[in-house]
Amino acid sequence: MSLPDSCLEQLHAECERAYRAAIKELAETALLREQRAKAVKQYPTAARSGGIHIDELLARLESVRDTGPQRWVAKCPAHLDKTPSLSIRVAESGNVLLYDFGGCIADDICAAIGISIRDLFSRSAPRRAA
Ligand SMILES: [Zn+2]
Repeated sequence: MSLPDSCLEQLHAECERAYRAAIKELAETALLREQRAKAVKQYPTAARSGGIHIDELLARLESVRDTGPQRWVAKCPAHLDKTPSLSIRVAESGNVLLYDFGGCIADDICAAIGISIRDLFSRSAPRRAA
């Protein structure tokens, strides 16, 4: 018994879709790895002592757009972001607040651009008296 031609065509289309989706996912993973490697390589001497300048932080991100005083959006470096979903804000304390609507955590975002979480905290932030 053999399947009618129209049935085979249908099956083939589904195979092709699955195949293309798998290839796309592989390509995106490779691209993401490449982007991360590039970001880290581009800034090998990231400040490790805390208090990165906001301009330097913004320079490490792509598609940065001003959204208000001390506020920006950019493409999240920790996932393959097609539209900017990372929100960046400088708090009154001078600390940098990162929020990714894509769900990435600050640790991953910092790692992707070669800085540490400590870099988000202002060096000049007032310390509370003990
Ligand atoms: Zn993200």
